[in-house]
Amino acid sequence: MNEKQKTKSWIQRIDWINSLFLTLTPILAIVLTWAHIRFEGMNWSLMIPFIILYFATGLSITGGYHRLISHKAYKANPIVKLLYLIFGAATFQNSALKWCSDHRVHHRHCDHEKDPYNIQKGFFWAHMGWIMMKAENEDSISHSSHAIAPTEDLSQYPKDLTSDKLIMWQHRHYLAISVLTGLGLPVLIGYFMGSPLGGLAILGFARIVFVHHMTFFINSLCHIVGSQPYTDTNSAKDSPIMALFSYGEGYHNFHHYFQSDYRNGIKWYHFDPTKWLISGLQSVGLASDLKRTSDEDILRAQLKMEHKRLQDKRIAKGQQSGEIEIIEELASKIDHILQQLIIAKRQRNSSRTSHDQKIGQQIQDKIKALHTDLGMLMESWCKKTNSRLKFYVPKAN
Ligand SMILES: [Zn+2]
Ligand SMILES: [Zn+2]
Repeated sequence: MNEKQKTKSWIQRIDWINSLFLTLTPILAIVLTWAHIRFEGMNWSLMIPFIILYFATGLSITGGYHRLISHKAYKANPIVKLLYLIFGAATFQNSALKWCSDHRVHHRHCDHEKDPYNIQKGFFWAHMGWIMMKAENEDSISHSSHAIAPTEDLSQYPKDLTSDKLIMWQHRHYLAISVLTGLGLPVLIGYFMGSPLGGLAILGFARIVFVHHMTFFINSLCHIVGSQPYTDTNSAKDSPIMALFSYGEGYHNFHHYFQSDYRNGIKWYHFDPTKWLISGLQSVGLASDLKRTSDEDILRAQLKMEHKRLQDKRIAKGQQSGEIEIIEELASKIDHILQQLIIAKRQRNSSRTSHDQKIGQQIQDKIKALHTDLGMLMESWCKKTNSRLKFYVPKAN
């Protein structure tokens, strides 16, 4: 079968259902919106449900398909999960079973042949080309099924997903749920707002196209545009601008390095509506066990990257001086303190559960002392290297 697939021409490999769907939806969005404006006059009040559906369906992909189901970054109430599955289907990006299986393969084989949306094959491939073509090899689940008609061969999917009743319910009824929520609901809302055609055009097709491309950007531009503060072992990039267009997923370098963290933007001011939704759900008791990388681990990763860059620069310049040794020494001292802080904070957490106040106080004093040392060392590091990492120094408490 492989040999046969390899000899197929690119035309034979086109997935016509997916290709037609991705090509016709923008055309329908434009033609139907034009018809709505031409024959009914623009109904601006439709912008309110448009924004609500844009976020409800897009965040169901990022908060539900991605961070909850693919990465298990937190636990959600079954009602929340059900809503994610219903509104996620309305984006026409396939069932969660298929989407999440692909996504795990992307993380496992990022930038390599088995990566379904391998950016090394170019922007268009990573953005949508991979959806429009059939499989090149049997390892990729992605190319073998349609975005609007999932395959029924369940053996290729991860067991934790196939054993989940809600995920399987959505997978089995995917097409009906997608059509009812993605197109039926927009027509119904449009009907109650005086224009079923406007509803279909703007809340249905235009919203599908916008959500498609905003989420497709995560696989394409988020592997092209931005910086690499945590790792350069894969192409994922951090970009605050991309975060604006991808429901907060633009901090993709952080995500590829700390994939089980419920956040992508780690600072409170980082635009990450998916993170805000998850912490909001936690505050009303609908989400729990939010996984969060420690500040120490984040700083360690950043220091490692900065250190690597400095080394590369030095090699490029052919420098050799005592200054380099000072930086090396500082890096190893900071790393040592960060490791001690991680251990001390773990000890503090277990002393809290044992309610031993004396030990708890001793550990707290140790943490404060370590933190003071860390502050001084980081100051030296920043001066010596012109680094901005001082902004990421972990808090003492
Ligand atoms: Zn990625
Ligand atoms: Zn991911």
